[in-house]
Amino acid sequence: MQLLQEPRPLTPRARVVETLKILQRAIRAFDEPAVEKISEDTREDPFQVLIATMLSAQTRDAVTASASARLFAVARTPRTVAALPTSRIQKLIYPVSFYRFKARYVKDTCAQLVARFGGRVPATMAELLTLPGVGRKTANLVLILSHASRDNICVDTHVHRISNRLGWIRTRTPEESEQALYRVVPKRWWPVVNLFLVTWGQNVCRPVYPRCRACAISRLCPRIGVTREGR
Ligand code: SF4
Repeated sequence: MQLLQEPRPLTPRARVVETLKILQRAIRAFDEPAVEKISEDTREDPFQVLIATMLSAQTRDAVTASASARLFAVARTPRTVAALPTSRIQKLIYPVSFYRFKARYVKDTCAQLVARFGGRVPATMAELLTLPGVGRKTANLVLILSHASRDNICVDTHVHRISNRLGWIRTRTPEESEQALYRVVPKRWWPVVNLFLVTWGQNVCRPVYPRCRACAISRLCPRIGVTREGR
């Protein structure tokens, strides 16, 4: 008599890959995040990706998309945006969150792009981080989307939250998560981690009331820290 063998448990890296493969198919049912769309529509223009990512922090996608469209309809180069009064930029990007700060950062960043980088968006993390209001999340996304980097993972609050719920990592901040993810995600998947988990976070694995019963990766998810589920 032949005995049935229990399937071997997946290694942590194999579980990460299995999860990403399922998400690769599952996200096709949803709209892409706003900055990804802007990147595609502008043929990966680094400047528009940079500014849209700055506007997107703690802002709903629809608001980011319309604010970016209003700003770029008036000015779409570092030189022309830097020439706008801050109050005009504020009006154009309203109602993105923290629009007053962001208008100032956008103007100052554009002025520095002109003064220090010949009007071009730099292609290194070290240089991007010298721009006002640009942190690792923004820099990583610009490097991935506009400079075709395969060496970066962009971690925002969705990526931080979901990779902890999935038990891939145990971290307290997005900065810690980025470093931890480099260790557990095989490199070929680094550029798409943000697209997959942000899309999932906006539609299924929401911050409160994640839709675990409708989740395509639920069998691979220990739901760490999840206390209440939504529909
Ligand atoms: S099962 Fe729930 S907690 Fe886990 S990824 Fe899906 S929605 Fe998020």
